[in-house]
Amino acid sequence: MIKGIGIPLAILFFLPLSPANASPSSGLNITVRPSKIGQGEVSLLTIREKSEAKPQVIWMGKKIALVNDKKNGIWSGFIGADLTTRPGRYKLEISLGDTENHFFRTVSVISKDHGIRHLTLPREMVELDPPTLKRARDESRRVMEIFLRSDDYPLWGGRWIRPVAGGLVGPFGCRSIINGMERSPHSGVDLKAAEGTPVMASNTGTVALVANHFFSGLSVILDHGGGIHSMYFHLSKAFVRSGELVEKGAVLGLSGSTGRATGPHLHFGIRLNGTRVNPIDLIELSRRLEG
Ligand SMILES: [Zn+2]
Repeated sequence: MIKGIGIPLAILFFLPLSPANASPSSGLNITVRPSKIGQGEVSLLTIREKSEAKPQVIWMGKKIALVNDKKNGIWSGFIGADLTTRPGRYKLEISLGDTENHFFRTVSVISKDHGIRHLTLPREMVELDPPTLKRARDESRRVMEIFLRSDDYPLWGGRWIRPVAGGLVGPFGCRSIINGMERSPHSGVDLKAAEGTPVMASNTGTVALVANHFFSGLSVILDHGGGIHSMYFHLSKAFVRSGELVEKGAVLGLSGSTGRATGPHLHFGIRLNGTRVNPIDLIELSRRLEG
């Protein structure tokens, strides 16, 4: 099946590679866990590379930034599927240093039902008058532009942390029926947080946005580099400024109920190259990383 690339076969989620032009000395091996990605889910990609050449990875047409665990010579990164990514098989391309060492493999995206939630909110927060609608659209555009830009170099490293200790009060990805009408699915998780709870940066990054938006209230978005952004919404206070570098665990602000919120909580979201993925999955998967 695989000739001349010396890959151990005993790995649980081992991906058989299709070497376009494999070097006999290449010690490349790759794991993707989970091996299939549900809509709105994320997998940890791990590459062991003996030659120390930095692997380049393309997933769904976008570069995947990898971080290196120097102790074990392992490169790691996250690949995800959006809530609306069509189920099917997608190509994962890996190249090493030059085009001579180019591999590809397919990874399946499978459909995932994230359930449904019903919310009742004041009418003026749902049926927007024209100026408010314009405001909300402008803010949404501004946020989408942020997701298109990211520092090339990953600022994040190791394990991701929960921004508050509180448990899940609003699950990720569920269809949202608000005042009887279907609206956008929930793009993050709602975590229990009393008014004024310190909110921590889930990983190191630069502040890409601090603003008071109609839906998300006082909001902070971090750019962790390599196409990963995290979001912290409905804050009562923000302690950071746009452009500032914040370390993992730094207090960004205090939780609250600003914007369209039914009460105090923290809405926390993560985007991978703009795709909406379950941030709790990413935190859990990152436990396998060093540091
Ligand atoms: Zn939320």
